[in-house]
Amino acid sequence: MLKTHNCGTLRSTDVGQDVVLAGWVNRWRDHGGLAFVDLRDRSGIVQVVANPDVATEAHETLQHARGEYVLQVKGRVRARPEGLTNPDLPTGEIEIVAHEATVLNPAKTPPFYIYDDQPVDEALRLKYRYLDLRRQRMQRNMMIRHRAVKYIRDFLDARDFVEIETPMLFKTTPEGARDYLVPSRVHPGEFYALPQSPQQLKQLLMVAGFERYFQIARCFRDEDQRGDRQPEFTQLDLEMSFVEREDVMVLAEELLIGVIEACSERRLLTKPFPRFTHEEAMQRFGSDRPDIRFGMELTDVSDLVADSEFGIFSRTVAGGGQVRGICAPGCGDYSRRQIDELTELAQAEGAKGMAWLAPKEGGDVRSSFAKYLLDEEIDSIVARLKAKPGDLLLFVADQAPVVNAALNGLRLELGERLGLRDPDVLACCWVIDFPLFEWDEEAQRWDPSHHLFTAPMPEDLPLLETDPGAARGQQYDFVCNGVETGGGSIRIHQRAVQERVFELIGLDAAVARERFGHMLEAFEYGTPPHGGIAPGIDRLVMFLAGEPNIREVIAFPKTQQAADLMAGAPSPVEPEQLKELHIKIVG
Ligand code: ASP
Repeated sequence: MLKTHNCGTLRSTDVGQDVVLAGWVNRWRDHGGLAFVDLRDRSGIVQVVANPDVATEAHETLQHARGEYVLQVKGRVRARPEGLTNPDLPTGEIEIVAHEATVLNPAKTPPFYIYDDQPVDEALRLKYRYLDLRRQRMQRNMMIRHRAVKYIRDFLDARDFVEIETPMLFKTTPEGARDYLVPSRVHPGEFYALPQSPQQLKQLLMVAGFERYFQIARCFRDEDQRGDRQPEFTQLDLEMSFVEREDVMVLAEELLIGVIEACSERRLLTKPFPRFTHEEAMQRFGSDRPDIRFGMELTDVSDLVADSEFGIFSRTVAGGGQVRGICAPGCGDYSRRQIDELTELAQAEGAKGMAWLAPKEGGDVRSSFAKYLLDEEIDSIVARLKAKPGDLLLFVADQAPVVNAALNGLRLELGERLGLRDPDVLACCWVIDFPLFEWDEEAQRWDPSHHLFTAPMPEDLPLLETDPGAARGQQYDFVCNGVETGGGSIRIHQRAVQERVFELIGLDAAVARERFGHMLEAFEYGTPPHGGIAPGIDRLVMFLAGEPNIREVIAFPKTQQAADLMAGAPSPVEPEQLKELHIKIVG
């Protein structure tokens, strides 16, 4: 090794030790005729000092070293003189007196400071990702990621799970997104698909008798890069045989709590994780991925306003719709402009409008609709929402899906504004009992709400024939801080049920056989009942590290436009390569 010690781990107990260190120049300065360099390696930083009278050449080298030069330093650890210790630095009580210093490699001035975590334009960070990754924040994130994955592997290994790799070059695996396709040179005009997840393969591993499988699996989905998504991302993919829903959830919850407690400084809000049925989540939060770090739950007032003189309310209720509201504490003094902004937000989520009411001290109110209501009606609304003078009540009247979307949007926005979405808290929960299908109005068919291998609840099986929309699936979603962070289900393991689901989602028998014949056939060779789950590693690590997006916990992420700014991918290829692949670029 070119070094005997790590910079960041030296302490006053090492005083007197001769050491050889190697690392990068974090900062440098001349002071009182001495040359100082803060030398950095992965373990941290240590101060190196050279005296021109004692070590002329080492002094010369340190004096000319600049930020990010790679140095080797031979020297001795000594206690820093009285009054010059640095309590902010773990190595702050000592320094290295250099006898020899060698420049292993000089460096150009980096495009941004490495030694502090000042905000830098993200495009620049991504272009020089190898420099960005040198920064403390990113080093820390990568270590958290490493530790989390190590924890997961050890946990599952101790419970008899087998790690098995599955192919990247495969056939289309429907998880609801567009596939990345890879052209075949050997089979002109034919394509592999990169897996959207190893879903089919892990089920086939259950058919193959492995009983407990996992993989830290790369998944590929060619989605429009709305929000916090990456074209390739990593899941902890796992599958178990001879289990029911409860078994998978209990195991996953133990693992998730363990990894959070072992790898994060953030506080877990509650354990065990609360569970909500899909219906309850929609009722209380208007969302199937509720952020339960704060209350401000949706409250139904339909019965209180059904007979009121306010036509928008009474007509909506008469038409099978509903009127629900939320109470924003202390927002009663919002100006008309601020309220208009909230109305626009509700409209962006599909609502036609938003009604509001602010109770004042002494029983008076400020409101968009109170003049149409009787005093008793207003009082009962205020009481139902448990509002106090100074609060602001917001209402949406419409069909349930619109009310849910609009109030969910308002709730999250107000939660953000009021500082109720504490980034240092991890609020995890489960959502279960999802409808098995969602009706696709445009295509006039049922779509699986999870994926097409999810089994219906046993008692809902007959509904596949009579009322598919009412059938619930054996699906479970793991939600953290309002973000869906993993989903799984008990799977269909009988050919007839799988074929019925294909039929309901409009997959013609011949197409189903062509695309999923291998699954259907496998189901006829003694498939055990099985189920699994796949928590997203990137999202999980983002929460563990307290980062605002998954790009901060991925070493080499892509931009929102799915581009790698460092290497410049995607990029054109040689005409020769295209020819070999039987591909012609048109347009
Ligand atoms: N393959 C599923 C997904 O990626 C997870 C699962 O059902 O295990 O969402």
